[in-house]
Amino acid sequence: MDPSIIRKGAAIRGVEPNLRDYESARTSFRWEDARARLSGLPDERGLNIAYEAVDRHAEGELADKVAIRWLSADGEQHDFTYARLRDLTNRFANALGELGVGKGDRVFVLSSRVPELYIAMLGTLKNGSVFSPLFSAFGPEPIRQRVESGDGKVLVTTPALYRDKVAQIRDELPELEHVLLIPSRDETSDIEGTLDLGQLLDEASVDFEIAPTDPQDMALLHFTSGTTGKPKGAVHVHEAVVAHHITGEFALDFHPDDIFWCTADPGWVTGTSYGIISPLTHGLTMVVDEAEYSAQHWYSVLEEHQVSVWYTAPTAIRMLMKAGSEAAEGFDLSALRFIASVGEPLNPEAVVWGDETFGMPIHDNWWQTETGGIMISNYASMDIKPGSMGKPLPGIEAAIVERNDDGVEVVTDDREGELALKPGWPSMFRGYLHNEEKYRNSFVDGWYLSGDMARRDADGYFWFVGRADDMIKSAGHLIGPFEVESTLIEHPAVAEAGVIGVPHRVAGEIVKAFVSLHKDYEPSKELRRELMGFARTHLGSTVAPREIEFADSLPKTRSGKIMRRLLKARELGLPEGDTSTLERE
Ligand code: ATP
Ligand code: MG
Repeated sequence: MDPSIIRKGAAIRGVEPNLRDYESARTSFRWEDARARLSGLPDERGLNIAYEAVDRHAEGELADKVAIRWLSADGEQHDFTYARLRDLTNRFANALGELGVGKGDRVFVLSSRVPELYIAMLGTLKNGSVFSPLFSAFGPEPIRQRVESGDGKVLVTTPALYRDKVAQIRDELPELEHVLLIPSRDETSDIEGTLDLGQLLDEASVDFEIAPTDPQDMALLHFTSGTTGKPKGAVHVHEAVVAHHITGEFALDFHPDDIFWCTADPGWVTGTSYGIISPLTHGLTMVVDEAEYSAQHWYSVLEEHQVSVWYTAPTAIRMLMKAGSEAAEGFDLSALRFIASVGEPLNPEAVVWGDETFGMPIHDNWWQTETGGIMISNYASMDIKPGSMGKPLPGIEAAIVERNDDGVEVVTDDREGELALKPGWPSMFRGYLHNEEKYRNSFVDGWYLSGDMARRDADGYFWFVGRADDMIKSAGHLIGPFEVESTLIEHPAVAEAGVIGVPHRVAGEIVKAFVSLHKDYEPSKELRRELMGFARTHLGSTVAPREIEFADSLPKTRSGKIMRRLLKARELGLPEGDTSTLERE
């Protein structure tokens, strides 16, 4: 038996996992049964995400249960029950109707994590309009591009964001008919060419009936993170809610009394699929924290609000690791039962650190903006192999394939290839905005090709190798950056690592690593030599980096993904391409 496997008992902190027997759940699973766990609109009028998330609870026993516990950046707490959320989203839907905004019209929201963002999203869906989130730290040009290409008719934002970023591009967006400003205590929303959202909500009726919604009606427009190139707009439909719901049950192990915290911003797909839709369809209480990350603050949120299920990302976990396990000391985190991570590969080191610090491993799962929901996951009941993404969800068929002249071929276990999925799950994207050709090219021989390289082992666990674009070809070997990065961060000095291929006359490419250090370490020639030796011992000389460069930090997307293409462009003096999602460095 491999000693590195983290064994799981049946119950965690006295709670039985939902998915007790993975194999039998896979065998018996049918999407129709998953759909039957939702209510559907009354009188067979279809399926609407907002009805499943809000109204069906507001009209039942959960009416007075807290749906959203909002923690404002200045330390206030405001609770929104399901009934109140229904009323506010009804008002929002009515306000859109009054403005002549209807089915299929696009509503963009540019805002930090304030209640109006959540109300606008759910109200938009009730109205049959399409919701598209924009990350609040975007500059004017990325906002303009997205609103323009998405045919934005309405933009909901704050007075400050409007003044700083939208006013100057407004003339270039003739299709943008209405700008609704979220009232703010410190700022007047009396700005020409805009409407006051607070006033619109006050004046709108609280009664609203959701119009018939076809499950295939477009609901969400999500732009990808831009890690590998210009962000793509992925189209999703109302039926996606079936996947949001069932993956919450299986992959995040939601139980009715859970207090859930998803740290992702709704500007990205994780922040909507799991930061809004999935927990609400389960009738949970979810914490929404407006403030930005700090280790102390995060631990205090977990303690104070008795968070039981926590969904976060590798970059945040690495920051917590950097702050040291001692930062968690003194906090009572006994309510925590399940921790999950997504967005980037989760280094084995981080899984083990979670086990040591929280008394439970961190469960990695894999999906993309395109897949709309979790596809491959480590489950509460399943033994964990640190560094593995886990196994496909019930209802999801995943394989490792190789492209050849005729199409693709499924490869045998333990071989690397492209991660592919059999289309047909409800949250699958239905198109790339204005790029039908790219959409069509993602499907070959009946498989959706993810653009990620991975392998599957003989036990059926999937292992991430790297994005196809980031793979390094050195002296006849194909090297995935993740393996090299994970080894480097096992060294006590290394906090983060980003690995690229650099052209080389003889080898084709050589492996180069950029590393940032933990707070007690300084760059030096000796440390560089030590890291080279450490990597060679663990990886062998073909895979170990030939060059290591120290960096204060690594370029990342605003959602926290290392942008290897920028490391490469800078190394080679090439144009940086689209940097709209780059975090300020
Ligand atoms: P773009 O498509 O614009 O380059 P992106 O791929 O980063 O950006 P997202 O859809 O937000 O945009 O991210 C999905 C990608 O993130 C996956 O294809 C994969 O490369 C990476 N990813 C997500 N979860 C994991 C995980 N658990 N392990 C490894 N990689 C992951
Ligand atoms: Mg992608």
